[in-house]
Amino acid sequence: MSDKFDVIVIGAGPGGYVAAIRAAQLGLKTACVEKWVDDKGAPVLGGTCLNVGCIPSKALLESTHQFHKTQHADVHGIQTGDVTMDVKKMVARKDKIVGNLTGGITGLFKANGVTLLQGMGKLLANKQVQVTAADGTVSVYAAENVILASGSVPVEIPPAPLTEGLILDNAGALNIDETPKRLGVIGAGVIGLEMGSVWARLGTEVTVLEAMDEFLAMADADVAKEAAKIFKKQKLDIKLGARCTGTEINGKEITLKYTDAEGAKELVVDKLIVAVGRRPQTQGLLSDDSGVKLDERGFIFVDGQCRTEAPGVYAIGDSVRGPMLAHKASEEGIMVADIIAGHHAQMNYDVIPSIIYTHPELAWVGKTEKELKAEGVAIKVGKFPFAASGRAMAADDTDGFVKMIADEATDRILGVHMVGGIASELIAQAAIAMEFGSTAEDLQLTVFAHPTVSEAVHEAALAVDGHAIHMANRKKR
Ligand code: FAD
Ligand code: AMP
Repeated sequence: MSDKFDVIVIGAGPGGYVAAIRAAQLGLKTACVEKWVDDKGAPVLGGTCLNVGCIPSKALLESTHQFHKTQHADVHGIQTGDVTMDVKKMVARKDKIVGNLTGGITGLFKANGVTLLQGMGKLLANKQVQVTAADGTVSVYAAENVILASGSVPVEIPPAPLTEGLILDNAGALNIDETPKRLGVIGAGVIGLEMGSVWARLGTEVTVLEAMDEFLAMADADVAKEAAKIFKKQKLDIKLGARCTGTEINGKEITLKYTDAEGAKELVVDKLIVAVGRRPQTQGLLSDDSGVKLDERGFIFVDGQCRTEAPGVYAIGDSVRGPMLAHKASEEGIMVADIIAGHHAQMNYDVIPSIIYTHPELAWVGKTEKELKAEGVAIKVGKFPFAASGRAMAADDTDGFVKMIADEATDRILGVHMVGGIASELIAQAAIAMEFGSTAEDLQLTVFAHPTVSEAVHEAALAVDGHAIHMANRKKR
C-alpha cells in the first residue's frame, strides 16, 4: 500500500478534474488518476472535452465562421478581395488552445494540492485503486471515497471501420489538415452537424447520412424545422432515413454505401467522419469484486446523487446516465465532492442546457412542446424572431427565434428553445430563470438593455401572453 487518500478520482476529464479540484478545495486529500499520455509519455489532462471534443471543435467552428463572415463582409461595405484559408494554421491554432487549457489543469492541480497519478486506474474491492503506469509499474492506493469519471469513447460501426486518414472518428476529424473536396458524415447528431459545418464553410461538399427519418429528434420540433431549412441553404446535404451499410476504399477515395427509402445507393467521398454517438468507457475499470454494477446499456449504475452500488464509490459524467455533456459531468463532480465533504448537495437534472454550435446555434433547456403535450400539461407558447431584433440586424445575424413555453396555470417557464447567432450565450439566461423557478411574467418585468440580442428573450416572454411589442401577436388576456 503506497498511500491513502480521502478521495481518489479516476479520469481527468471535465467530470473528474473538476471533482478533484473541488474535493481538494474542501480540504480533502485528493488524487486524480489519468491514463492518457502524449507521444512523449507526459500525462494528458482534460479528457475528451479539452483534447478531442468541446474545445477543439469550437476552435475550428470559430475559425471557419470568421472565414465565412470575412467572405461575406461586403454586406458591411468591406471589400476583402479573395479570402483564403490556411487550414494547417487553423489546426495549429486549435492545437495551441488545447495545449493552453490542458496545461492549465496541471497548474490548477498543483495550486489546489491534487496529486496526479499517471496510469490506468482500476477499482478493486473495499475502495482500493490499482494504478498501472505507462511504464508498467503497478501501485495500489486506498481511499475513503472513489469517484469514477472514466467518460466515453466513440461508437464504431462495422460498415465503416476507422481507416487512418480516410475514415475518421471525432479525434481524427479534428486533425484534417487540408480542405477535402467531398466529405461524408455518418450521423446527423451534435458532432456530425458541427464537423459538417466546419468543412461546408470552407467549400467542401458535405453529405450527412442519418439513419432516422426525423431530423434532430431530441430538439423541439420548431428548432429542428428551422435548423433543417437553414442547413439546406448552407449546402449541408442531410439525407434522412439513410443508413450506412458499407464502405470501400479505392486509393484516396471512399465509396460510401447506404440504403434509404428508394433502396441501395452509393456516394464517393474523400474523407468520412463517423459520428454515430458515444458509449461509456468502462473497460478495465472495475474488478469483479468492486461492487459497482453497470446498467443494461453499459453505463455505471448510479442513483440521483451519483452513488454506485458500492458504498463510498460514486460515478459521474459520460459514464453514467443522462446527457453526455461536459457541464453535466462537471456539475456532477461538484455535487459529489460536496456530498463527500459532508455538505448537502443536489443537481437539477431538469435544467441542463444543450447546444449545437452550428451557425446559427441551436440551444435549449427544459422540456419540448411535444414532451409537455404528451404529459398532458396545458401550456402557453411565445416565440420571437431575431429578424425583428435591431441588434441582430446590425450584426447581420437575423436567422432563428426564441421560443418560450410556460405552464398555462402557473406561468412557470418549462422550456426555452432557440435558433440564433449567439443562442449558446442567450440560453444561460433561460437556465438561470428556470433554476430560480421564474415565471414568464418575471422575465416580462425584467429590464433588458437596448439594443441587445437578449431582448429577443424578453420579447419571447412577453409573447407567451401575446404582449410582444415588436411583432404582431394576438392579446390572449
Ligand atoms: P471524458 O472527457 O471522456 O474524460 C474521461 C477521462 O478519463 C479521459 O481522460 C480518459 O483517458 C480517462 N480514463 C478513462 N478510464 C480511465 C481509467 N481506467 N484510468 C485512468 N483514466 C481513465 N460537451 C459539451 O458540453 N459541449 C460541447 O461543445 C461538446 N462538444 C463535443 C465535441 C466532440 C467532438 C465530442 C467528442 C464531445 C463533445 N462534448 C461536448 C461532450 C463532452 O466532451 C463530454 O460530455 C465530456 O468530455 C464528458 O466528460 P467526462 O469527464 O465524463 O469524460
Ligand atoms: P449523436 O448520438 O447525437 O452523436 O447522434 C448520432 C446519430 O447517428 C444518431 O442520430 C443516429 O441515428 C445516427 N446513426 C447511427 N448509426 C447510423 C448509421 N449506420 N447510418 C446513419 N446514421 C446512423
